[in-house]
Amino acid sequence: MDNELKARFSSIVGERYAHSTADEIEPFITDTRGRYAAPSPLALRPGTVDEISQILKLATETGTPVIPQGGNTGLVGGGLPLVNGAGNEIMVSLGRMNKILDVDRDSNTITVESGSILENIQNAADDADRLFPLSLGSQGTCQIGGNIGSNAGGTGVLAYGNTRDLVMGLEAVLPTSEVWNGLSRLRKDNTGYDLKNLFIGAEGTLGIVTKATLKLFPKPRGRELAYVSLKSPDAALELLNRAKGSAGNGLTAFELMASIAMEFTLKHAQNAIRRPIQDTSPWYVLLEISSGRSSQEARATLEDILGDAFESGIIDDATIAESLEQQRMFWTLREDMSWAQKPEGASIKHDISVPVGSVPDFIKEADAAVLKIVPDARIVNFGHLGDGNLHYNISQPVGWDAEDYFSYEEQVHEAVYEVVGKCKGSISAEHGVGQMKRDKIAALKDPTALQIMRTIKASLDPAGIMNPGKVI
Ligand SMILES: Cc1cc2nc3c(=O)[nH]c(=O)nc-3n(C[C@H](O)[C@H](O)[C@H](O)COP(=O)(O)OP(=O)(O)OC[C@H]3O[C@@H](n4cnc5c(N)ncnc54)[C@H](O)[C@@H]3O)c2cc1C
Repeated sequence: MDNELKARFSSIVGERYAHSTADEIEPFITDTRGRYAAPSPLALRPGTVDEISQILKLATETGTPVIPQGGNTGLVGGGLPLVNGAGNEIMVSLGRMNKILDVDRDSNTITVESGSILENIQNAADDADRLFPLSLGSQGTCQIGGNIGSNAGGTGVLAYGNTRDLVMGLEAVLPTSEVWNGLSRLRKDNTGYDLKNLFIGAEGTLGIVTKATLKLFPKPRGRELAYVSLKSPDAALELLNRAKGSAGNGLTAFELMASIAMEFTLKHAQNAIRRPIQDTSPWYVLLEISSGRSSQEARATLEDILGDAFESGIIDDATIAESLEQQRMFWTLREDMSWAQKPEGASIKHDISVPVGSVPDFIKEADAAVLKIVPDARIVNFGHLGDGNLHYNISQPVGWDAEDYFSYEEQVHEAVYEVVGKCKGSISAEHGVGQMKRDKIAALKDPTALQIMRTIKASLDPAGIMNPGKVI
């Protein structure tokens, strides 16, 4: 990018918020897993919708590719320059646009700027005695614009749905610079295409989301959390069915974790974390029951579920968190599973979903297929069983060289995705497509669906400047 064009972009946000030296650019182009290193000539940090509109106008006029970036916690390289790309994409980072604009207790909505950190939105809802239920391990860093861009899931999906289900309205700037104000608080509006859904899960390929109106919920009066040990995914599925039957909508989380995932977390924990149940077990479940009335009611429901499951031989042991601090510790064990794999070396990762009832079969078949390729691989499997979503990650055998291990990556992906296909599942449950899975979905997705996506993209982004090379 020549200096004159750089200067024109920079003058829109002011020199202070335009970054182009290698040191300054580094945080915008580096991901937590270190898998997508690629250059960018410029990072802009706009402070207003008008500045974003001016940036996109100039980008469309000059054919400059633009990448919107939130908290940069995405796991598929969606918010980062293309590896082996042209190196001319500019970063537009939304972090300065982080105001909570309005909390409406009657409509049960919160309206925020898209650079707001997820945890700050949760806290603002809590201050108003409401719940914003989107909950991810990255919530202290990720932004709602990134959550919307990636249609993030997390641990609350079972009861409240994913990000798509939590958005009521959006404001977005189109690649051609027009601002679309769709910040509706309407629960009912049947006046044509639902445009907000175009931008949710689009991973920044159709425009930049600048504001969002989100759904709030009554805050549960009681929340009880159990840590359960059991022998198999089949037993976990049976427990899930019984818990749904007893608690209905009161079942607010159901997370499945393989023994090795738990051992990695305990081994690499930064804080003092105790093993909740002394005897080790092949599988664990975190089961949360909420009540709109009281913690006593939640506790009684949880005890009934566990007592019944124990008597029927479905579970081996269980412990209920006795304090908020212990609840936090149980959740930390689950949430730290992502990064606890890092010290164990290279990991080949999958974020897949299958129909809930097919999870045990998926695990049996995928395990067999993977171990046939790399017999000593360590399968670190955990995820949101209640949504049929597994983070099916495979750590390198002990003592292997990371590069040697990654030479099997494509073979392992293919084997796992073949089982996903057999189970009629999805190769991206909640992390998105980004640059990581673009070529995979081109091969696996229905051709008509891909054609519709290309038509929408071409009509909203005729110059092809919005996050090119991602998703499609
Ligand atoms: C420890 C850890 C745990 C995680 N747990 C989960 C989990 O449980 N569930 C889950 O779904 N994900 C999880 N993730 C992945 C990640 O946190 C989510 O995908 C999150 O939604 C990304 O938000 P972000 O602000 O970091 O977005 P970024 O990574 O910056 O961007 C993500 C995508 O959204 C686009 N984008 C960003 N901002 C905007 C905007 N304003 N307008 C339009 N497009 C935009 C980007 O271009 C990119 O394509 C986890 C990640 C980590 C590191």
